[in-house]
Amino acid sequence: MTSGPAPRIALVVEDEPAINDALAHRLRAEGYVVEQAFDGPTAVDLAAGMRPDVVLLDVMLPGLDGLEVCRRIQAARPVPVLMLTARDDEADVLVGLGVGADDYLTKPFSMREVVARVAALLRRVERAAALAEERPAVIEVGGLRIDPGTRRTTVAEEAVHLTPTEFDLLLCLARRPGQVLGRERLLREVWDWGDAWGSASATRTVDSHVKALRSKVGSARIRTVHGVGYALETLP
Ligand code: CA
Repeated sequence: MTSGPAPRIALVVEDEPAINDALAHRLRAEGYVVEQAFDGPTAVDLAAGMRPDVVLLDVMLPGLDGLEVCRRIQAARPVPVLMLTARDDEADVLVGLGVGADDYLTKPFSMREVVARVAALLRRVERAAALAEERPAVIEVGGLRIDPGTRRTTVAEEAVHLTPTEFDLLLCLARRPGQVLGRERLLREVWDWGDAWGSASATRTVDSHVKALRSKVGSARIRTVHGVGYALETLP
């Protein structure tokens, strides 16, 4: 008898039974082991007990809202979180809060999109783990010090706390200091999105994360080239 890799464990947190069941059904069909929670406190308990590889998390939940659930889950153990939001502009607010969610999907979404996003999140986590093993060189540029191995960042010698996505975005820009990177390329390299380019929410994803990153490392450090993309400034 041969055994393949251990199945990935997904925790689906959504109070609307029809959506929760549809997500669980689709993820099981893709080979995931799925647990379901329909309120905030149960989600926090399940996350502690089952140690999921990925969490799909609705924002509006009874008991504890999705933001608080995300904070508590992340405080216990880092795990990639895909937030399910009701509106596009809600995602902007969430990114600004920096609660530790890695990606956002606005309702209504297709199950195909959910599966693609979850797979992309897991690939990102694996890539980050592989990078940490390689002990890559620290990058110093424009007054920033970025350690891809420990995922620590300092600005003018002060530590700044970045979410996983903010860190990956900064690292992507810092590897090509001064070079303008288009949103499409950033989506491909940071978010690992293959075919999602072109939607308004894709553009918004990049822009809102750049905005959040700027608020932490200093807005002048990231230059906007209108209609093209973003570049990291090389001067402090
Ligand atoms: Ca809800």
